[in-house]
Amino acid sequence: MKIYLDGKFVAAADAKISVFDHGLLYGDGIFEGIRLYQGNVFRLEEHLERLWYSAKAILLNIPISRPEMAAAVCEACRQNGLRDGYIRLLVTRGIGDLGLSPWLCPKPSVVIIADKIVLYPPEYYLTGLSIATVPTRRVGPAAVPPMIKSLNYLNNILAKIEARQAGALEAIMLNEAGFVAECTGDNIFIVHKGRLLTPASQQGALKGITRETIFSIAQQLGIPLEEHELTRYDLWNADECFLTGTGAEVIPVVKLDGREIGDGKPGPVTGRVLTEFRQRVLTEGTRI
Ligand code: PMP
Repeated sequence: MKIYLDGKFVAAADAKISVFDHGLLYGDGIFEGIRLYQGNVFRLEEHLERLWYSAKAILLNIPISRPEMAAAVCEACRQNGLRDGYIRLLVTRGIGDLGLSPWLCPKPSVVIIADKIVLYPPEYYLTGLSIATVPTRRVGPAAVPPMIKSLNYLNNILAKIEARQAGALEAIMLNEAGFVAECTGDNIFIVHKGRLLTPASQQGALKGITRETIFSIAQQLGIPLEEHELTRYDLWNADECFLTGTGAEVIPVVKLDGREIGDGKPGPVTGRVLTEFRQRVLTEGTRI
C-alpha cells in the first residue's frame, strides 16, 4: 500500500509521523473520510470544503491548495489500484514541543490513506441495526463546535464503548439539553407520518456529507424533510429510522433502547432513499 505523506507517496511501513506531532500529542488536527465508488470519489469537493472550514475554525493552515489536495486524493486511489474504497485524509498540526502551543508547530502534515472499510456487518443493511442511547453527552457547540471534524474523537469513542457495553453496535448521543444530537460516527434520521426529520447541527450533529445528500434525495423524491429538535420519545415512536455516514452509508435502525421502531423492519421510505443513494454515489463527485 502506498500512503501520501507530505507530498510524497511512500510504502505503508515508511509512512511515519513524529511522536512530537500535536495530532498525536493532543488530537490537534482535522480529517475527512471519503468513499470511492467505481472510480468516482463521492462528493470530493464537498469533503474538501468541509476540511477547509474545519481548518479555518482551528486556525490551521493547510500547506497545499484545494486543487492539489483533490489531485493527491485521486492519485492515492490510482497508486493503490483502487476502484472502490475508503479514503482517510488528515491534516495534523505538525511537530511542536511538549506544550499545547500550536504556534510552535511550524508545518502541518498531510496524510492520505486509500484503503477499504467495513463499518457494520453486511446483514444489518438488510435487517437493520439495534442501537442504544448512552450516558456520555455530545460535546456542545460552546466547547468544540461539532461541525469541526477534529482528530479528537474521545467523546465519540466513550459513547461507542458504552453502546457496546449495552450490547448495541451504535450509540445515540444526546446533547447537554437532552435532545438527540447524532451517533458516534453517523447522523440520524427518522420518518414520522411521511416526513423526514433530523437534528440540526446546532444540536450537536456534524454536517455530514451523506446527510446533505439525503436532503437532496428527499427533495427529488418529494419527501418533506425538516431539521427538528428530537427527543428519545420521538425516536421510540418513529415509523422508521436510519443512520447516514460515509463509512456507514445508509443503514436502517429497527430497535432503539429495547423498543422496536415501527414494525421492527426497515421501512419503505428508508428503502426509497437507499435506492436513490446507490445511484448517486456513482455519479456525484470526481472521477479518478
Ligand atoms: N457524525 C460524526 C460524528 C461523524 O464522525 C461522521 C462521519 N463518519 C458523520 C456524522 C457522518 O458524516 P459524513 O456523512 O460526512 O461521513
